[in-house]
Amino acid sequence: MDIQSHAFYHYTYNDYASNRFNIRKAKEFFLDLGIETTGFVAPYGKWNEQLAEALEDEGYRYSSEFSYDYMGFPSYPVVKGKVSKVLEIPVFPVAPELFVNEDMTCNPEKILEFYKTAIDELIDHGIPVIVYAHTHPLMSMIPSLLENIMDYAINEKGLKPVNMTRIH
Ligand SMILES: [Zn+2]
Repeated sequence: MDIQSHAFYHYTYNDYASNRFNIRKAKEFFLDLGIETTGFVAPYGKWNEQLAEALEDEGYRYSSEFSYDYMGFPSYPVVKGKVSKVLEIPVFPVAPELFVNEDMTCNPEKILEFYKTAIDELIDHGIPVIVYAHTHPLMSMIPSLLENIMDYAINEKGLKPVNMTRIH
């Protein structure tokens, strides 16, 4: 388990000052709880250069936004001609919630099959398997779905679980 920042306000701004304020406010929130954050995931996976600069200036070491990259290897973005110190870690860009119907029903077996195929493809291409999901009070099936996806990746495909801090 690795607790990291997802910003204070669930929004990624287009300007540096607002992003920095939002990132710092979340960082201080966690520090008040005794948790030092070094990783970040931007709301809606939205990345821009102003976000990247704010993350670097707040001392973050890695971040993950699928608008920067997905289904690829971790890399350091070039921001305004300079290599950023914040490692970008791509994730598989599909969350299980996307398969849940408006009436909160879904077909867990079908969702699991989708992820099994995706995991097989990622392994075939030597790409790290990183799946993301959101919690939602009306989607009680998400935790068990994630458990089944992890069970397949770890126990059937032999992948080793690590958190993003250890990737960095
Ligand atoms: Zn979010």
